[in-house]
Amino acid sequence: MPELPEVETVKNILKIDIIGKKILDIKINYNKIIKNVSEEEFRNSLINQSFIDITRHGKYLIIELDDYYLISHLRMEGKYFLMHDEEISKHDHIIFYFKDSNLRYNDTRKFGTMHLYKKDEYKYDDLLKLEPLNKVGLDPFNIDLNDLYESIKASNRPIKSVLLDQEIISGLGNIYVDEVLFMGGIHPNTIANHLNKDDVKLLLDSAITVLNKAISLGGTTIHSFQSSHGITGRFQNELLVHTKDVCPKCNNKILKIRVGGRGTYYCENCQIIK
Ligand SMILES: [Zn+2]
Repeated sequence: MPELPEVETVKNILKIDIIGKKILDIKINYNKIIKNVSEEEFRNSLINQSFIDITRHGKYLIIELDDYYLISHLRMEGKYFLMHDEEISKHDHIIFYFKDSNLRYNDTRKFGTMHLYKKDEYKYDDLLKLEPLNKVGLDPFNIDLNDLYESIKASNRPIKSVLLDQEIISGLGNIYVDEVLFMGGIHPNTIANHLNKDDVKLLLDSAITVLNKAISLGGTTIHSFQSSHGITGRFQNELLVHTKDVCPKCNNKILKIRVGGRGTYYCENCQIIK
């Protein structure tokens, strides 16, 4: 699944590819991707619209057009490709045609989503109160330390599960949470409300460090993520604990366990249960 850094990479590449381009036609091969309007309304609304900007909220892309916001989530396998006259793949579900090229939303698993909102009905900030963004917590770059601490203090789940909960803090997937807990020296099974505010600050600082590094390297390619242009992330070469055998701090063997059903890597020596 593309995580926050990969979505950031997709956003940056898409901006280069499509900003300023005008949609002349749209072909919809699988309409269940479109969630809050009909296939017909989606087409009629977006034809003749030009792309103005793209921002990211958690793992959602907010694509701004002349009169609409298109909110896109790639879920497990969604990808955007700028194409020309290449053959259409059976996984190209929505195709936006421009004068000389076309943008394809390709998704082998078909779990991706698109929501459409009209700009004269909703301002950008209103989007955060609407489906699907109303269920997304702020990401580590935007969340307030006190708010995060309050959420963590209120939970008796393992800290790993809390950091994966996109309603509490968005944008940290399985790989990144393992890295954050390793950097913070905290065992993934630590009960969240055993952590004090200094622990939470350390985790939040670690999350920002890990995400910034991943963004600068284009994310990871683990789990078959591939950005449009086929750019492969290089962050997987920098992982400290996730999928590793030996701890880079103490040379102990890295252990693999399951926490909340998710494969979890940690160092018994460097990460303590609080
Ligand atoms: Zn260690």
